[in-house]
Amino acid sequence: MASETQADATAVQVRCSFCAKPSSEVEKVIAGPGVYICNECVGLCSDILGAERQQQPSQPGTQLPAWEETMTDEQILDLLPRIAAVGAQTEASLQRLAAILRERRVTWARIGAALQITRQSAWERFSGEE
Ligand SMILES: [Zn+2]
Repeated sequence: MASETQADATAVQVRCSFCAKPSSEVEKVIAGPGVYICNECVGLCSDILGAERQQQPSQPGTQLPAWEETMTDEQILDLLPRIAAVGAQTEASLQRLAAILRERRVTWARIGAALQITRQSAWERFSGEE
């Protein structure tokens, strides 16, 4: 399901969903359903998994990093617009998928149910109508 996206100046600029870097700042961005990951984050994940394999087997589940704790106010402020851009990118993916479903005559009720929102909320969010 994943596909490669070349960092191309003429292509639509996408951002890594993990580090929020734009595709122009990394070598490669790989697309998943509604998300993207850059080569740098793949490398970091691979390092983490490799290090864990050499240590004791860890508890299953997600390891939540406390990296925000070590950041300065300025670093966090710098991060805010990047995270907002990733959020906007995710919203655009939802809009595109909802449009595909509507072209296939999937009802607003089903789209809403999938997102655990009402039919009315789905229509307001994705129809583009007032
Ligand atoms: Zn990244």
